Amino acid sequence: MIHVLGAQGSVSPEGRSSSFLLSPTLAIDAGNLLSPLGASCVGLSDLFLTHAHFDHIADLPFLMSSYFEQRTETLRVHALPQTIEALRIHLFNDQIWPDFSKIALRSGEMALAFEPIGYGECVMIGEIELTPVRAHHLVPTCGYLIGMQGHYALLSGDTYLNPDLIDLLNTDTRIGTLIVDVSFVSSEVKLARDSMHLTPQLLRTMLESLERDDLVIYTYHQKPEHHRLIDDELRALGFFQNGGRQLSDGETLSF
Ligand SMILES: [Zn+2]
Ligand SMILES: [Zn+2]
Repeated sequence: MIHVLGAQGSVSPEGRSSSFLLSPTLAIDAGNLLSPLGASCVGLSDLFLTHAHFDHIADLPFLMSSYFEQRTETLRVHALPQTIEALRIHLFNDQIWPDFSKIALRSGEMALAFEPIGYGECVMIGEIELTPVRAHHLVPTCGYLIGMQGHYALLSGDTYLNPDLIDLLNTDTRIGTLIVDVSFVSSEVKLARDSMHLTPQLLRTMLESLERDDLVIYTYHQKPEHHRLIDDELRALGFFQNGGRQLSDGETLSF
């Protein structure tokens, strides 16, 4: 089960940006961790990032600084090497925010550690498997193949048309669930292409080479102010015939 802490591709009164809680210690992306988790965020020991764009790291600085005295364990941030480099250079550089990889907790351990990951290399955190999958976006980005108790869901990460995703879905029939970026309405195709995201029509194009019809499809990363229009289009195109939906903040997703 995945707890969707933030499902949107931006922040507004209509919704919060991407964060998925896989267990009390494990999350993907830091778009919205602090307000839903509160003090229990100190229990997070492993955070996997899809990429360095701000809507996916917005809460990471505050995750380090809030409840600092209560944190006893290093937060391990797992990400592509290019994402780690971007965080080191542009965020945890002592100018924008302190370098928490050099600040010790009371236990003596450093507050933050970066763990590089690679496409196709599975990482086990307890019983949960996470395998980074290449996405097609403005910067190096991964989605994740998530395995829990023998069930598999594929999270696309921010992506434009991505044949690698379809190849994986065609070859690995263990995957029953696709959670895919649909950020804009189809009339915003230029904006989608320029920013390397999908629209409902682009998703239809991408899925033309899918050789199966049993996938449950969920969408996320919608611009919050357009979530109803995007949802109407997705429904009209029949993406949710197997029971999926456009994800909302705060809901749980079983697969
Ligand atoms: Zn994003
Ligand atoms: Zn992005």
